Amino acid sequence: MADLRDLYQEVILEHSKAPRNYRELKDADHKAEGFNPLCGDHFTVYLQIEGDSIRDISFQGSGCAISKASASMMTQSLKGKTKKEAEELFRKFHQVVTGKASSNGNATELGKLAVFSGVSEFPVRVKCATLAWHTLQAALEGKQDAVSTE
Ligand code: ZN
Repeated sequence: MADLRDLYQEVILEHSKAPRNYRELKDADHKAEGFNPLCGDHFTVYLQIEGDSIRDISFQGSGCAISKASASMMTQSLKGKTKKEAEELFRKFHQVVTGKASSNGNATELGKLAVFSGVSEFPVRVKCATLAWHTLQAALEGKQDAVSTE
C-alpha cells in the first residue's frame, strides 16, 4: 500500500500548492468563515446557489496542506451538485477520514476525495480535512458566526 499512499500524498501536495477555485466569489449569495484553532487553519467558503444547486463555489484563506487540499478538492467535487448531494458527500467523506468506513467501499462515490482516507490514521488531522466541509455546511445554512472545530 506504500505506493498508493505516496500517490495520495502527491495529490494532496499538488492541490495545496495550486488550490482550485481559490478566489473570492464576488457575487456569492452564501458565505461562511471557519477556523481550526488546533492547527491555525482559517478559510472562507463562498457559494452561489441557484435553486437547489451549487452554481459556483470558491474559497480563500490559509492553512496546512491537508486543510487547503481538502478545501480545493471539495470545491471541485461540489460545483453543480445539489445541496442534498453535497450533504451526502460530506457524510461519506467524514466516515472515510474518521476511519468509520473503508475508502474502498465508497471510492466510486467519493472519487478523488478518497485520497484523504489516510487521514484517519492521524486523528488530529481529521479537523484539518473536515474544516472546509463544516464551513460549507454553515454557509449553506446561512449561519452568521464563524465556525470553529473546537
Ligand atoms: Zn491543519
